[in-house]
Amino acid sequence: MFENILGQQKIKKLLAGQIKSGKIPHAYIFMGQNGVGRKYTAFEFAKILNCTTNDFAKTDTGACGKCLNCEKISKNLHPDFHLIDFAKQAEMLDEDFEKQKVLKIGTIRNVQKEVATKAHESKWKFFVIEPAEKMNAEAANCLLKTLEEPPDNTILILVARHKETIPQTIVSRSQTLFFQPLQQDTISSFLMLRHSLSAAKAQEIAALSEGSIEEAEKLISGEESEGLSLWLKLKTKDMYISDILELSRSMSRDREKAVEYIDAMIAEAKKDFRFYPKSAADSLDLLTKSRALILQNVNTQTVLDNLFFDLKEIKDNSSALKI
Ligand SMILES: [Zn+2]
Repeated sequence: MFENILGQQKIKKLLAGQIKSGKIPHAYIFMGQNGVGRKYTAFEFAKILNCTTNDFAKTDTGACGKCLNCEKISKNLHPDFHLIDFAKQAEMLDEDFEKQKVLKIGTIRNVQKEVATKAHESKWKFFVIEPAEKMNAEAANCLLKTLEEPPDNTILILVARHKETIPQTIVSRSQTLFFQPLQQDTISSFLMLRHSLSAAKAQEIAALSEGSIEEAEKLISGEESEGLSLWLKLKTKDMYISDILELSRSMSRDREKAVEYIDAMIAEAKKDFRFYPKSAADSLDLLTKSRALILQNVNTQTVLDNLFFDLKEIKDNSSALKI
């Protein structure tokens, strides 16, 4: 169970034990920094209990991920799975998302109302409240009433970074699980697999991520967006020869940076496979060869000049084909 949750072995073991024994608390606090799997674990928990293809009291297998319940929960479209966060509150109160600073009583009243109704499609109802430490006092008091008389087969998960602002009366009625920062190795393997990063790059980012996947992905997207804009420039803009020479001259000043740009362009080229398989394959071939040449100490500017002209040619040919 919980195979697809990174790290957090203790928590996974504890939850699996509770699921198997049927002794499941009504309320949890999933505590820890962002990007360590708190919310993801809540989704997985709901899928395991509501999956229609396995009897989890008897097996160690996780949720199937494919049955209707699993699928709807994954997409946050299940009528018995409620993610209550700033986005949801903005939608409910018809306000701007940027304006959401605290979780308000109106939002928690809606939770209360929904808790009181019967499950629509599955056995277990889930309410995941995030960021729970941002409930104001009124909202927290309102939630306490629900916790005092929790209905059967209803699980409330408060996802929080800390519990200083959560009233003790709520904390004492909940089981707190402490999510630890993830190991660097765990993060770097994830980055290699999910973002196709090289081992060296993945380790470099993992070291800066403070144990958080969210932080790691922010670091990547910063770099990817530079690569993306370069890629789009090459792909869509009709560049003059002088532009190309200028671009390769400025990029070749820093060899390592040039390799990073090429990595980011490789990631973009991979995304193009679905729509332009032929030109994506040709581009990837060029990019990987150029990357290797730079790493073999061939003159960076020469490699980049050739790369950009060849990429331009692929682009020109593929747009000619479209006509
Ligand atoms: Zn399922």
